[in-house]
Amino acid sequence: MRKTTFFTVGPSELYFTAEMHLKEALRRQIPSMSHRGTAFQSLYRHAAGHLRELLNLPESYYILFLSSGTEAWERILQSCVEKRSCHLVNGAFSKRFAHTAKELCLETELIEAPDGSCCEPKSMLLSNDSELIALTYNETSTGAMQPASDIADLRKAFQDTLLAVDVVSATPYLTFDVEQVDSLFFSVQKGFGLPAGLGVWIVNERCLSKAVKKQEKEMSLGSYHSLPGLIEKAEGYETPETPNVLGIYLLGKIAEEMNLKGAAQIRKETEQKAAILYQAIEDCAYLAPFVKEKKWRSKTTLVAELQDVAYHKPLMDYLSSQHLEVSSGYGKYKDQHIRIANFPAHSKEQVERLADALLAFKKVEV
Ligand SMILES: *Cc1c(COP(=O)(O)O)cnc(C)c1O
Repeated sequence: MRKTTFFTVGPSELYFTAEMHLKEALRRQIPSMSHRGTAFQSLYRHAAGHLRELLNLPESYYILFLSSGTEAWERILQSCVEKRSCHLVNGAFSKRFAHTAKELCLETELIEAPDGSCCEPKSMLLSNDSELIALTYNETSTGAMQPASDIADLRKAFQDTLLAVDVVSATPYLTFDVEQVDSLFFSVQKGFGLPAGLGVWIVNERCLSKAVKKQEKEMSLGSYHSLPGLIEKAEGYETPETPNVLGIYLLGKIAEEMNLKGAAQIRKETEQKAAILYQAIEDCAYLAPFVKEKKWRSKTTLVAELQDVAYHKPLMDYLSSQHLEVSSGYGKYKDQHIRIANFPAHSKEQVERLADALLAFKKVEV
């Protein structure tokens, strides 16, 4: 049977060496390994070390393991905000980040931008009691990516406010300087091409001292994964609970391989493949990029709108017949959009095959 190539936005295509590392992990009996012992500590150290190199993270940042990106939304808010957070909202994922704050009974300040665009920090005025600014670098529901210069502007304008950036559907493709932000998080089933079930939360000392201050006021940080508790364990390369040991092992292996290629080369290839896909989308009479402003077009999750919703099913069926899977639109855009992942797991040849298939699709009978 011919294998399908998954251009779905998450879970997505496995990284090309994932199968080999999975087999090796089973051979080495990694899933039976105790998470209290030197063998696990060295897996943690290996994965964290390679992530630090790949993302160009200073030593002062902590690298912590969670279960998912969704968990990270809750953790950062619960650990680092006492009263009020500010959210840049430009689609469904950034909206859910804000909704998480509401569910935790925090006051939320929303800065909203229409779907397919990004909030413009230049025009942002913040009430000065927002303790944290939450931003979604790549809004997976609409395919809008925040320009790096906006993150630099936010940092400059709000120096005393924590800046937390959701990089779930972009990492390892990051164009901004990570030292400008206090916290970042992602999960592994998107840009790392791995099975789901592991989240990575990166924080600096500012986040930790905010959490400690909150704790000293006898406010709750939750119990399962409070930031001070996670960090206490992480300092000895351990986790509070039995973690996804297999996932941590695989992430270390993939990050190590990505470092052999280098983050700069990964960025370059991502941009080249995105250019091929956007060109195909522009060249197809029945498709157009959903994000109109080029500066906001995502390089990692591309969203195309269909001229006619009646083409949606025939197109998805045609791509499936070619062993190519893309994602439908998100939420209300389900039948109006297709979403295409462009992660390091997608080779240039696979991307060209998808571009050719988009161009070859002829709507036969609608
Ligand atoms: C997928 C996604 C999430 C949620 O991550 P999970 O690992 O599925 O919980 C959060 N934010 C963005 C931008 C995403 O694309």
